[in-house]
Amino acid sequence: MPKHNDLEQKALQIITNTGKDGLLQSELWRKLGASSREGSRIALRLESKGLIRREKELCNGRWTYRLYPKRLPASINSILDCPCMMCPDGQRCGPTGAITPQTCEKLTDWLLRTAENHYGSLGDS
Ligand code: SF4
Repeated sequence: MPKHNDLEQKALQIITNTGKDGLLQSELWRKLGASSREGSRIALRLESKGLIRREKELCNGRWTYRLYPKRLPASINSILDCPCMMCPDGQRCGPTGAITPQTCEKLTDWLLRTAENHYGSLGDS
């Protein structure tokens, strides 16, 4: 029989892999091969550790919880359009050279655009 920590680790991995969609706790129990009682305890422990969040959801006329990861792994897709990826000055760019990310307008513009897409307009508050 797997240890509690092993099950917690496996549960966290399953929840993290669902990304922003999350999954119903009953789906998690099924994937873990755990009872609903055991599964509920695992979800509560993960929530109390700040690793997941639970949101109440009505499913087939019954209240249950959907489990979401609090942290998602970084994706390569998040930097595919970064100007540094195809920059002709990439080889000469560095923290101490004449061409540096600290003063790069292309990088600054991209960072501001990306932040705005994620968090909304930065200059309207
Ligand atoms: S920081 Fe600017 S200059 Fe440097 S590699 Fe990125 S886009 Fe090019």
